[in-house]
Amino acid sequence: MAMEESSKQTRLRQKSRSWIMVFVAGLVVLGTSAPAAPIADSAAGSKQAAAKKASAAVLPSLPFDHILPYDELTGLLRAWASARPGLLQLESLGRTPEGRELWFATVTNTTTGPASEKPALIVDGNMHALEWTGGVAAMNFLRRLVRDYGTDARVTRLLDTRCVYVLPRLSPDGVEATLREGRVIRSVARGGAGGAPSAGLRMRDLDGDGRIVFMRFRDPNGPWKRHPREPRLLIARGPEDAGGDNWRVVPEGLIAGFDGGSISVLPALEGLDFGVHFPDDRGPGAAGARPAPDSALVPEVAAYVDALRKRPNIVTYITCHSFGGGLLMPPVNPDDPFPQADRLIYAAFAARAAELTGYHPTSYLDLRAGQMTDIHIPTEIGWLYSVHGIFAFITEFWNPLKAAGISLDGPMSLWLGGYHPVEDELKLLRWNDSDLGGAGFVAWHPFQHPQLGPVEIGGWDKVHYWYNAPFDRLEKEVAPHADWLVFLGLASPRLEIRSLGSEPVGEGIWKVRLVIDNTGWLPTNGSQRALDIRGVEGVVAELSLPPAARLVEGELRRSVGQLAGRNEQRSTATWWGYNPGTPDRAVVDWKVAAPAGTTLSVTASHVRAGTARATLQLK
Ligand SMILES: [Zn+2]
Repeated sequence: MAMEESSKQTRLRQKSRSWIMVFVAGLVVLGTSAPAAPIADSAAGSKQAAAKKASAAVLPSLPFDHILPYDELTGLLRAWASARPGLLQLESLGRTPEGRELWFATVTNTTTGPASEKPALIVDGNMHALEWTGGVAAMNFLRRLVRDYGTDARVTRLLDTRCVYVLPRLSPDGVEATLREGRVIRSVARGGAGGAPSAGLRMRDLDGDGRIVFMRFRDPNGPWKRHPREPRLLIARGPEDAGGDNWRVVPEGLIAGFDGGSISVLPALEGLDFGVHFPDDRGPGAAGARPAPDSALVPEVAAYVDALRKRPNIVTYITCHSFGGGLLMPPVNPDDPFPQADRLIYAAFAARAAELTGYHPTSYLDLRAGQMTDIHIPTEIGWLYSVHGIFAFITEFWNPLKAAGISLDGPMSLWLGGYHPVEDELKLLRWNDSDLGGAGFVAWHPFQHPQLGPVEIGGWDKVHYWYNAPFDRLEKEVAPHADWLVFLGLASPRLEIRSLGSEPVGEGIWKVRLVIDNTGWLPTNGSQRALDIRGVEGVVAELSLPPAARLVEGELRRSVGQLAGRNEQRSTATWWGYNPGTPDRAVVDWKVAAPAGTTLSVTASHVRAGTARATLQLK
């Protein structure tokens, strides 16, 4: 539809080019009165930026040598918001069961228009409590935005023309528990339906070093034996191995209901997983579909879903997790809709991510590698893409295997499940010794266990070196991802008024012409999926007349459909199926009766491509 429209419009434009050019100079883009103009990439702009920066309140930096406890996080967010009031608005989406606020930041230059009138990118962190690196990445992006606005041309353009939402810590209660207890918690330690089993080994720091690692102890029927050359390493006993010095390994902890012999280990990932509590990706009509999060069980998710639904300007969504060093995208389940147009856009976005971060992009479905595909997996990215047509990604930061120089041929889950050569284990220990200064692998040391007797405590510190990037390389790990987020934000559609002009066509009669461009890379609808589910209406052009003026021809409010972006333009060397034109542009004409000197105003708006305004004096 946009194509048909555009060829007609191109002809119109060519016929009256000189006519249109007259008024461009007179074009005024409305906004709230601006105390500081948006900063351009010009010398004057940089000077202005420097002045602005100098006058702005000091911006406290983000520490990377520890994970911020809730109070410190709150203090930092408040300090950033008060240092950059025209840029960062901080609000709480609600309170957690333990009484913490769910901080939500809206970042945009408010002098160029409100957030709701700009295309948006949304980023969250710490949906999973122990995945601290994801939360740090969200905070680092926020810092990058407020710190670099006015000095970095891309960040400046992003916040002048788009809006960014950041929810840095979706589970403040969960993160606090992991910081306090140093153990693996999924999202929150609150029990789900059924509660946690009461008997079994529960992970706990026994030797008081603040870390939960492993315990090994001699057992004639233990399945492990020492590596012949590396005493720290235990290797599996083979089918023919009998007798010898055998060991058993269990996580560091105490055994509830211990009978003196058998040990069952409680699941490592304790608690609820917020990720599976988002609305169903098959839509509310699907059999067994959950229409909305349970606000009693997961109030954090319920508040977040409400916030997402109230922001129809969201084009792209990224949830920051760790670990794996990968980027996950739809499809998630075998029968998920995934039109070709969106596949290509996802591929372009993922390629840029890979270039910047080195992370491996893959679909969630491919990650499942054909395993249990008859089971429907609910995910937030599945819901946002399938039900709302929002480009949704999961970033899994940090890959310790890659850091240790191990390359994988198969899925990482297989490797982690223990299917890998002993040589990889030795490589990891060498990496610990040379790169981590020995801090990643706790040296085995004797401990008198109250239930098991003499044991040795030691092994990999999964919390600080596997689930998360070590503090000394944390900033380096998350920095390139912020660049990618800026890129994604700038790829969104954006309506701009190219021109608004008038021409007298009779006594007190004027022809008014509005030309609208989508200057973004994506089409105004964002995704094809958004169109397929009728999730977005077309661009609406609206003329406002003062009492002295009257409409003679046309409609005051006109829908001009979707406008294309530049995303389909790939190479001038190919021409197959290439139909150039101006599918990114719409021309709207009105005929108005009014005295000369009358001022008219127009608005071009689209829920995902933003709102542009202009005024015109008839003359
Ligand atoms: Zn996660």
